[in-house]
Amino acid sequence: MQTSLSDAYRHTAIGQEADAILRSCVHCGFCTATCPTYQIKGDELDGPRGRIYLIKLVLEGQPATAKTQTHLDRCLTCRSCESTCPSGVEYGRLVDIGRALVEQQVGRSLGERLMRRALRSFIPYRNRFAVLLKLGRLAAPLLPSTMRAKMPQAQHAGDWPVAHHARRMLVLQGCVQPSATPLTNAAAARVLDKLGISLLEINASGCCGALSQHLSAEEEACNFARRNIDVWWPHIEAGAEAVVVTASGCGVMVKDYGHLLRNDPAYAAKAARVSALSRDLVEILLREDLTPLAPASAGAIAVHAPCTLQHGQKLPGAVEMLLQRTGFTLTAVPDAHLCCGSAGTYSILQPDLSQQLLHNKLAALGSGQPQQIVTANVGCQMHLASRSEVPVRHWIELFDPR
Ligand code: SF4
Ligand code: SF4
Repeated sequence: MQTSLSDAYRHTAIGQEADAILRSCVHCGFCTATCPTYQIKGDELDGPRGRIYLIKLVLEGQPATAKTQTHLDRCLTCRSCESTCPSGVEYGRLVDIGRALVEQQVGRSLGERLMRRALRSFIPYRNRFAVLLKLGRLAAPLLPSTMRAKMPQAQHAGDWPVAHHARRMLVLQGCVQPSATPLTNAAAARVLDKLGISLLEINASGCCGALSQHLSAEEEACNFARRNIDVWWPHIEAGAEAVVVTASGCGVMVKDYGHLLRNDPAYAAKAARVSALSRDLVEILLREDLTPLAPASAGAIAVHAPCTLQHGQKLPGAVEMLLQRTGFTLTAVPDAHLCCGSAGTYSILQPDLSQQLLHNKLAALGSGQPQQIVTANVGCQMHLASRSEVPVRHWIELFDPR
């Protein structure tokens, strides 16, 4: 695609990055067919090719409008289009840049600003989110049934094994997961312990920064990344062999720390090292001898592969492969490439589209009549559980029968 960036962006780092991405797009439109929002809205501007065109116009100097912002807001950042694109267009990075530029030009209503500020002020902070969740659970009987359904069931995490193995790995603690689904990291620690690996949860680590990044607050996202790097660095120097992430949405962000902080002289090298060490939990298990694990019979299972795992981290079919290799029975899931509608804060900011996608996803997951659904990301897990008739769990729980 030919471009002619305006003087305002031509010589800037983000302008040049965006220009290279735009030029790699040949405008063929293959990506449109696999875009969940295009499938629902049927509008070219609610598909990747249309959004790329809108971002190009802004970079070429055409003023962004509220309509531009709406079409970019409706994008899930699911990156299904990246998986389909034959030209390797890095749409995810381009839409982050486009959103930040549009945000600078187009204002938001007071209500939208307050909502976005509230999301950024509560969700990424573990203790604040825990208090919010506690209050929500206390008030649950008074809440409308739709809000009650969104409240995650309380979980008992169980014991964390004492770290006594020579092989050590770090795990991202995250922000929502410790109070919403604390079983996930604890189960991962017990499973890895059986495989001869001690998993270390460093208490001062926290939010990966993805929420801020997707709400166009890149410097805030960088600060979350810097804090995690500082907390993990002494353990990396002491020989920790990986940074394990059990939520694929956070994993895609940690794998991007190197890119995010590439222009920060104090952090660029460390960030690149952390990204190189970052692994989704499924990548760890796929490389280990799993003989010590004795998975219990679990009946038919439907796997929901989060977009952040299959399109973001480019690990399509990884969980399915692991579960089939270890003897679990999986049901077929049509249209597995499509998003469930969770997408970070999308379910809050775009509730109608999110609910339509959830409805479609649960129908697809349920078509093989599974006894349970497993997934690899806390956001998808909570979103699916809010309307699922069968239990929704993180897949690691299958290896941690209790
Ligand atoms: S992003 Fe890829 S698939 Fe979509 S129009 Fe551009 S080149 Fe074609
Ligand atoms: S990221 Fe997802 S929703 Fe956004 S344009 Fe690509 S396929 Fe469509």
